[in-house]
Amino acid sequence: MSSDGADDGEADRGVNPGTATHDEVLARLRALRAADAPTHGGHVLSYVYDSGRPDLDELAAAAAREMQPVNGLDPTTFTSVAALEREVVEFARLLLGGDPASDRTGDDVVGSVTSGGTESCLLAVKTARDLWRASGGMGTPRLVAPVTVHAAFRKAAKLFDVHFDGVPVSPLSGTVEASAIVDRLGQDVALVVVSAPSYPFAALDPIGEVAAACAQAGVACHVDACIGGWILPFWSDDDGAVLPPWDLRVPGVTSLSADLHKYGYAPKGVSVLLHRGRDRHRAQYFATTDWPGYPVVNPTLLGSKPAGALAAAWAIIQVLGKNGFARLADKSLRATRVLLQTVERIEGLRVVGDPVGPLFAVATDESVAEDRRVDPHHWADAARARGWVLQQQPGIVQENGVRLPHTTHLTVTPVTEDGLGELVPVLVGAADAVRGIPAVSGADVLGALPGGGAALPGGPAALSGETGPSAGALDSQTAATLLGALGLLDSADGALPERMAPFLALIEALPHPLTERLLTELLARVVEPR
Ligand SMILES: *Cc1c(COP(=O)(O)O)cnc(C)c1O
Repeated sequence: MSSDGADDGEADRGVNPGTATHDEVLARLRALRAADAPTHGGHVLSYVYDSGRPDLDELAAAAAREMQPVNGLDPTTFTSVAALEREVVEFARLLLGGDPASDRTGDDVVGSVTSGGTESCLLAVKTARDLWRASGGMGTPRLVAPVTVHAAFRKAAKLFDVHFDGVPVSPLSGTVEASAIVDRLGQDVALVVVSAPSYPFAALDPIGEVAAACAQAGVACHVDACIGGWILPFWSDDDGAVLPPWDLRVPGVTSLSADLHKYGYAPKGVSVLLHRGRDRHRAQYFATTDWPGYPVVNPTLLGSKPAGALAAAWAIIQVLGKNGFARLADKSLRATRVLLQTVERIEGLRVVGDPVGPLFAVATDESVAEDRRVDPHHWADAARARGWVLQQQPGIVQENGVRLPHTTHLTVTPVTEDGLGELVPVLVGAADAVRGIPAVSGADVLGALPGGGAALPGGPAALSGETGPSAGALDSQTAATLLGALGLLDSADGALPERMAPFLALIEALPHPLTERLLTELLARVVEPR
């Protein structure tokens, strides 16, 4: 997604495998990296979590390098892996309300280090499904969660043959009513998931109420603290009040995920999944002796696995400890407050709801006159032209027919505070530049194409979602032709267009299965050999 127009021709000149020197290989790698979006300095307000401390990056790299040759598959052969994982889980449960000393249920909190948030979420669902089956559940169980729950849970539902039952949230605040979740509890529910906070709108779900109802109904309740887990323990609201309990201190919460590659400041590839009770944790495992090879015991999805990111996370924890994490959290907290105030003062924009944690979403303020409104996607495009990358989120229609507006998302990290002097005027100036410009309509984008969208399977009427071929019937050649007609296959380096608002408008307008097929094609074509 680079947009800085780096010289791709140069970066892309490959060398024949087998003919390059070490120096040449590394030179090319650096050239390729130079075209990436910046990972440090806070200019990209998603994807990357910069502590602003190069010493931690160096430490993480040294620790990862130390573990580079190790196979995390077998902690009895590579005992360092067992020690690191034990100490990470021990620290995590202390931080996340699973301290054995404070437990009243007698169920020790234990867990595993995984390769990331998605794997933690997948395993939480697999574990709950297996326990539901073991307790006599038959058929396809449900996973109940607000529609704002991370997409990883939809993926898990698909992979593990669970029905995803998404509960609508408020379009104004992005929050869910506890009763709306509780009303859906039943014998066929294998898992309820609530977030601390949700990614799209940073809503802290009503975890106490939901978990209590789950406990009463005998249903498992997972808290997805992938993004909040390593920072909410140090978060307070504007008045300095601490948050309501949201972690394993809450009775009825049976598992919790927290990503170390987010506010643990570790390189990508590390997260923790904690369970209340050893028996629950053991249901996460896969073991087999039914083949003639080595006995297989896998706590997580992978077999052979790296231990570098684990070591990096472990090293950072050793150096930072609670106080170090708290100091970094304070930087994010101060920066978030400044940015929230900034957006609230921008005419035509509004912050969605009452965000909890170092992230928030921005929507159009529809209470002002149309010519004073700011479309968040135009706003993000204007900020991007000024060198700051905000994340555009499409709107969706929920099952109750209520539309959630399209928004722009900002994730704030400790380093953001150091760049506020630059970022704040950019946010204000970008809004001034696009105020009054209406949101792009998907119908207009298609209408502007040659033939008015005739290239679309099903023609322009496919927009309604009622015609057009099923997305599964779209072969890769047709999909590519379509992407070409939409002007999305133009770039040789995989960079997306400079103005993303029209692209997002299409994502909103086209039927989801069609868009999903087109996005699959787009990403595949970006990566595959030409
Ligand atoms: C990041 C995140 C995840 C998992 O994402 P990964 O990219 O796989 O780490 C899950 N839930 C929430 C709320 C997240 O923010």
